[in-house]
Amino acid sequence: NFNDMDNILSQLNDSQREAVEYCDGASLVIAGAGSGKTRVLTYKIAYLMEQVGLKPWNILALTFTNKAAREMKERIARLVGQHQAVYLQMGTFHSVFSRILRAEAERIGYSSNFTIYDQSDARSLVKSIIKEMGLDDKVYKPSSVSDQISMAKNHLILPHAFVKCSLYDAKKPKVAEIYVHYAERCRQANAMDFDDLLVQTFLLFENHEDVRRKYVERFQYVLVDEYQDTNFAQQKIVLQLTRERQRVCVVGDDAQSIYSFRGANIDNILSFRESYDNAKLFKLEQNYRSTQLIVRAANSLIRKNERQIPKDVFSRNDEGEKLQLKPAYSDKEEAIIVCKDIRRIRREEGCEYSDFAILYRTNAQSRSFEEQMRKDGIPYRIYGGLSFYQRKEIKDVIAYFRVVVNPNDEEALKRIINYPTRGIGDTTLSRIVDTASKEGKSLWEVMTQPAHLEVSKGTLTKINNFCQLIDGWRMRLDGEDAYQLGHAIIMESGISKEIYSSRNPEDLSRQENLEEFLAAMQDFVESRREEDQGDQIALSDFLQEVALLTDLDSEGDADQPKVSLMTIHSAKGLEFPTVFVVGLEENIFPSPMCTNSMRELEEERRLLYVAITRAERHCILTCAQNRFRYGRMEYDTPSRFIKDIDPSLLHVEGTLGSFDQSAQRLPWQRASEGPEWMQNPRPVATQFRADPKPRQVAPHRPEPKVDPFSEGFKRQLNIASGGRFKPVASTRQTSAVSAQSSSAPHSLHEGAVIEHQRFGIGTVVKLEGAGDNEKATVEFRNVGTKQLLLKFAKFTIV
Ligand code: ATP
Ligand code: MG
Repeated sequence: NFNDMDNILSQLNDSQREAVEYCDGASLVIAGAGSGKTRVLTYKIAYLMEQVGLKPWNILALTFTNKAAREMKERIARLVGQHQAVYLQMGTFHSVFSRILRAEAERIGYSSNFTIYDQSDARSLVKSIIKEMGLDDKVYKPSSVSDQISMAKNHLILPHAFVKCSLYDAKKPKVAEIYVHYAERCRQANAMDFDDLLVQTFLLFENHEDVRRKYVERFQYVLVDEYQDTNFAQQKIVLQLTRERQRVCVVGDDAQSIYSFRGANIDNILSFRESYDNAKLFKLEQNYRSTQLIVRAANSLIRKNERQIPKDVFSRNDEGEKLQLKPAYSDKEEAIIVCKDIRRIRREEGCEYSDFAILYRTNAQSRSFEEQMRKDGIPYRIYGGLSFYQRKEIKDVIAYFRVVVNPNDEEALKRIINYPTRGIGDTTLSRIVDTASKEGKSLWEVMTQPAHLEVSKGTLTKINNFCQLIDGWRMRLDGEDAYQLGHAIIMESGISKEIYSSRNPEDLSRQENLEEFLAAMQDFVESRREEDQGDQIALSDFLQEVALLTDLDSEGDADQPKVSLMTIHSAKGLEFPTVFVVGLEENIFPSPMCTNSMRELEEERRLLYVAITRAERHCILTCAQNRFRYGRMEYDTPSRFIKDIDPSLLHVEGTLGSFDQSAQRLPWQRASEGPEWMQNPRPVATQFRADPKPRQVAPHRPEPKVDPFSEGFKRQLNIASGGRFKPVASTRQTSAVSAQSSSAPHSLHEGAVIEHQRFGIGTVVKLEGAGDNEKATVEFRNVGTKQLLLKFAKFTIV
């Protein structure tokens, strides 16, 4: 009953169809925003299965976020059916290759329980190395050394080669040595940072031809979205997998390359054609996303960049309205203007809150919008920022898990060795660290074989007790699932006592977070068990999932449409009927850190291009003259980029009608002066540089009543569970439901309507298997088709 191929192809224009149908060699689709690149990839995957006859598990698609992969998979399922789509290999580079690394860990001298260090682990390790080497941390700033190491890795420059590479700075010669130590320490800790997930994959394939062959066999076709933002390491890995067959298709837009700070290189698009003989280039020029005026305004902006592949993007949608520029007196008023517009457009066009996005240059800008939206009762969700898993109490718990799974994990061990306090203080820790570095051992090895450790007998006992505690949990790793063991660790470690015994009202939210975290684990275990058909879901599975959560990997609460708030970087590939691009001021956008060179400025301009091209019908730009930053009001001028937009395509709101009329007005706010000040922005960038004040977080504000983090948590949770958030209580309740339903699965029949705990209402279309393996294929009203293993599925028959 699936659409046949002709029907599928008829949903593409001629150039898109050509790109989909070309499968004889490498292909590269270069096209402007909204022209259907992602659509081409999606349809091409369907085509490869239906027409070329490839099996879904032989197709690898690499996307920018895991959420993008899930969405693409759902779309493909609609084209070719769920039974095919589930087996597609899709995800971000990091998630796909971390799984391969676990499977092959032994080949590269790791064990498969390796930890993934996040950015703060990486920095903290660099910091301790700098300290241990006795270097001045004002010269060797941990964050910048860490960035340099990261950059080296993204270019596949290994520690010993660092001195010879262009990143090497003769003024900071020790960075090379720090890098060497850093790599050694990661290895000792059986840990990989995010960049290692790429470097080690590259090395795995480079040095183990049999392994590479195995994956070349497995991935018969490789597709990459957002190719302009892949870095050197990622390109090399793709090449390792595809160089013989050349069955590879990448899509991208050089005008949207915005990740050079992470090592992405705009030239990679050009070098693609050098890596593959006869790579075929496809161009798409029709934008289907935006109105004509938005497309033309975006074009006029990007034309100001010198480095680019010329493109002629046009739209045949409605002409639409011009870009709007709404200057505000202050950041506060900016938020008022935006909220007012959201309400107005929603009323006029009868659309949902989820049709709006507010995009900003830096995360810190979200605060004023949050405040205003809370006041106005506008539902919103923030992507990115401090995620739930970055909160202290959660990081503590996760550190325990990490040590239990991998006791050599140095960063996690340091975090919990004396938390809750157990008398192993800083002095003892530094003795352990010294001994470890002298003997080339991990901290854990020193602690469990403390022959050369110079500490008192009492301390030794304490260390011993701690090791036994950890070992006790380690022995339960195989027997208990992630939730059971996780729960036990929280109780037995004393964390739970520590957090619950406090009468400090601030600790209330920590308690709630801990409870939500447990609910998250429980939900994760249950949903994975359903999907993985009954295998035990171990603590290490949970850690793997948590380590690779990205800002955007949240499903959101489908119950209520919400306005999206996110940075422009996170908005890549997305689209919204109305987009606000806020904070268009010189000290914000372009970022004052990126005004040194033409190259950096061009990247900032591309960033604005990305922002504008997210809009389907309305694109509204705002800027504020005064902004509360660094603990005081700061004056700012409009962004130089505003001048880059063709003035005939930009409507500047001259009056500040939406602002409280009684407020004091400054001369520039007079209607007639609006366009003038735009002509002459002050060169504030230099002025900013002269200001030695470090960037600071906004001053403390009273906690909002609604804890935004618990909201954030729910978002994060959804990736772990693949479904909607269920609080602890209801999860427990539905366990009863599950007992009831799984005790009588045979009353289920094809055509039955069920209500699933996570997926909602659906109709059973197929039943197969027997006993513990009995499976139902269910078409859910809202989430598409899913296969459920009845033994674990939680639903009731309606
Ligand atoms: P970006 O550069 O922002 O990633 P893109 O090139 O990947 O954009 P898509 O997201 O694939 O563009 O497409 C933009 C929108 O246009 C989507 O809503 C898509 O469904 C729609 N679209 C693309 N091609 C067609 C087509 N031939 N017919 C109808 N709609 C289309
Ligand atoms: Mg896209």
